[in-house]
Amino acid sequence: MTTVEETRKRAERDALRNRIHLCPDPELLQELLQGLAENEKRYGYPSCPCRIASGNLETDRDILCPCDYRDPDVEEHGQCYCALYVNEAVHKGIEPVHSIPERRPMNKQMAALGMGEESTETLETDEAEPTDRKLLYCKQCGYVVLREEPPYKCPICGAKRELFGEIVVGEIKVREI
Ligand code: SF4
Repeated sequence: MTTVEETRKRAERDALRNRIHLCPDPELLQELLQGLAENEKRYGYPSCPCRIASGNLETDRDILCPCDYRDPDVEEHGQCYCALYVNEAVHKGIEPVHSIPERRPMNKQMAALGMGEESTETLETDEAEPTDRKLLYCKQCGYVVLREEPPYKCPICGAKRELFGEIVVGEIKVREI
């Protein structure tokens, strides 16, 4: 079982690797780490502590911490949605921790509530349905991932999304995206 301390160390390592910081407010930081550890115990994966999870990994994949929205939010707003990860200015107290707009698309929020086209029920019963996910690779380090869009940044080498290409298996060639 992942403890709060293990969750903290994992978050610290991730912040270091991405040259960002953890929340400067110790109480808020502790609450967020506890929330993550509790979600990991409940669902088997660390879903975002300030968003509703469905309990279905496929539906919640975009909000596994660090979520798909962290890097653009830190870049644009100086912090992620929960403020677990912040930039230098927020870390130093030059900018305050504040609430920011939700970047997660509405259809995904609805799916987490079991509503809309992407509901957990649909995903569970229609596993063979084709999805929009593509096999993508990072041209800089070779990291390969199956998802709808390239990540904002490569989680391995930090390359920007423009450096991702699509592997088209049937055609045995690599297509520019
Ligand atoms: S908003 Fe922050 S705490 Fe929540 S999943 Fe994204 S990175 Fe983690």
